[in-house]
Amino acid sequence: MELKGTTGHGRDGKNDLGMSEIAFRVVKEWDVVKVRITDEGQKRIDLLLSQNRCLGCEEKIAEGEKTKCGLHPTCYHAARRAWIAGRVTRNQLLREGKMLPPAQGGARPINKFTRELGRG
Ligand SMILES: [Zn+2]
Repeated sequence: MELKGTTGHGRDGKNDLGMSEIAFRVVKEWDVVKVRITDEGQKRIDLLLSQNRCLGCEEKIAEGEKTKCGLHPTCYHAARRAWIAGRVTRNQLLREGKMLPPAQGGARPINKFTRELGRG
């Protein structure tokens, strides 16, 4: 549940304008994650997908790795077991941004930028 660790410290490095701009953005992203509750689900989805992360465990999704409803296959199966067992409803997961609706589940948007980063 920690995204801020990967984006660094938001308030460091105010030495030039470029750094300030970056710091501002990081703080905003962190806030989006922090306030996620029910209706914040969409923001969570946007954030995690833009970073190529699983909507469940929030870990990076490796390039070329298959996902289901925005989740690692493992995470999807765990979620599926949970709703079959009645511990959670699928709607609850959707509302909280912890998975995508099945219609969107097949293809994940992998953009050029994240793909290039993944090669490093
Ligand atoms: Zn996962």
